[in-house]
Amino acid sequence: MSNFYNRNNNHNHFNRNNNHGNFNRKSNPDFDNKPVKVDSNVSYINPYNFISLNKSGCKRYDALEREGSLTGYIECELTTKTETIVPDTENVDKEKPEFKFYNYCETKNGFTVPVIPGSEIRGMLRSDFEVFTDSCLSTVDGKKSFSDESKKHSRSLNELLNVAKDLNKSYSPCIDKKSLCEACNLFGFVADENAKGSKIRISDALYDGDTNPYAEYRVLSDLASPHISNATFYSLFLSNADLANMDEGYWNYLYQYTSKGKEQINLPNITIRGRKMYWHHKPIIKKDLILKPKRNCAVTPVKEGTKFKFKVYFENITNRDLEHLIAVINLDYDSDFMYKNKKYYDLCHKIGKAKPLGYGSIKLDVKDVQVRKVEVKDGKVSYQLLPGSEVLGKDLKDINLNTCFDTNTQTFKDALKMYNFNYLDANYERVPVNYPQGQPEGKKETGFFWFNFNSGENKETNSKYFLMVLPLVSEGRDIANNYPGLKATIKRDGVEVPIDGLKIPKYNK
Ligand SMILES: [Zn+2]
Repeated sequence: MSNFYNRNNNHNHFNRNNNHGNFNRKSNPDFDNKPVKVDSNVSYINPYNFISLNKSGCKRYDALEREGSLTGYIECELTTKTETIVPDTENVDKEKPEFKFYNYCETKNGFTVPVIPGSEIRGMLRSDFEVFTDSCLSTVDGKKSFSDESKKHSRSLNELLNVAKDLNKSYSPCIDKKSLCEACNLFGFVADENAKGSKIRISDALYDGDTNPYAEYRVLSDLASPHISNATFYSLFLSNADLANMDEGYWNYLYQYTSKGKEQINLPNITIRGRKMYWHHKPIIKKDLILKPKRNCAVTPVKEGTKFKFKVYFENITNRDLEHLIAVINLDYDSDFMYKNKKYYDLCHKIGKAKPLGYGSIKLDVKDVQVRKVEVKDGKVSYQLLPGSEVLGKDLKDINLNTCFDTNTQTFKDALKMYNFNYLDANYERVPVNYPQGQPEGKKETGFFWFNFNSGENKETNSKYFLMVLPLVSEGRDIANNYPGLKATIKRDGVEVPIDGLKIPKYNK
């Protein structure tokens, strides 16, 4: 989950007033009245996007429906699809941030055996489970608010998360143990006056090999996303298709200016984009980077193809819970669609550090499921383990995303793109995954400039506007459905921004 949503983050990323920090736009020569030049030859895919929330709202169940009798474990194999770094964050020198892979200080054949803590896997699986089961956004701080430039109008995240306009179906974190979403029921929850323990326990994942699994030590590129909060990326009022359809329509978070004149924006029309996720892509490794504390860090990842083993223990869950867990762990999507002589749909999870750079794509496979059966014979209690397939009455291979969830929702369609390891390679080959860049003449390109050039000002109407917003996942190309992606042109103040699906053009000035 993003920092923006995180309860522990004090920054209010929704507040447009923070956008420029202490930066004075008027006195800076980079923000003179020269128009923005759009360089369509260079474009980027933003490292993250959002899986939209189901309009019908969060699904919650009462206690009786959630009561199950299955106790046992799922044996899993984890295989890295890209280099992966799950760092030991405790033993790091702040002046020289070099992260080692997490481990128990155990060596084998001359290398330190890497370990992925169960807590990391748990956090990842919970977020993934939340996506597919329409569960709440458990890590959100709903009290954070988003305000317009005047600070007179504001909306809390809690309001934005109530997409179905029904408090019982709001995506705000669950607060009542009598009515819980599937994720809170399985993974537990804590609210002010209510709490429920977890039915799931996850072991650490241990490296399952004899050869040295590590890739080369390297310095990572500066991970910093433009540290400007950007309502244009997190919240949604108008999409790029809307902006292209209104000629010269201006808007900020207070007013919109259309052919009908100036109208106050109805705040409830501003919505939340959804659950933040990073795209899967192969990391680009830049050599010869210099380690600069507070800017970047050094890591030693494990190689692609490294295998780990772990177990997911469950207690008193239902058949449906178990099937959903298996489906979310495997992320198997049943389709014959092929690309480059392989299956197009290869849905993967993401774990660890440097996700925006492409690190941490992993595949999980359920290897075995065992369910404990309690028997009382002649006054003696004995336990017997039964195969999961016997208990569920079906082959585990027949449990997949298609059999467990509604594949027709926009949420599912977005997830199918964002979890697919092959999506960007198949649809946006050679378009770099990077925060969009802007470049004033004679200066270094940075994401900071892109966000500033993207918001313009019309002096005549004294109104602010955005050239474009973050494309929606649904606007992205899709070879599996013969969809070329959204093609449009946004025209504002003499600047033309060509829109081509998920691509974000570079701006120059
Ligand atoms: Zn919940």
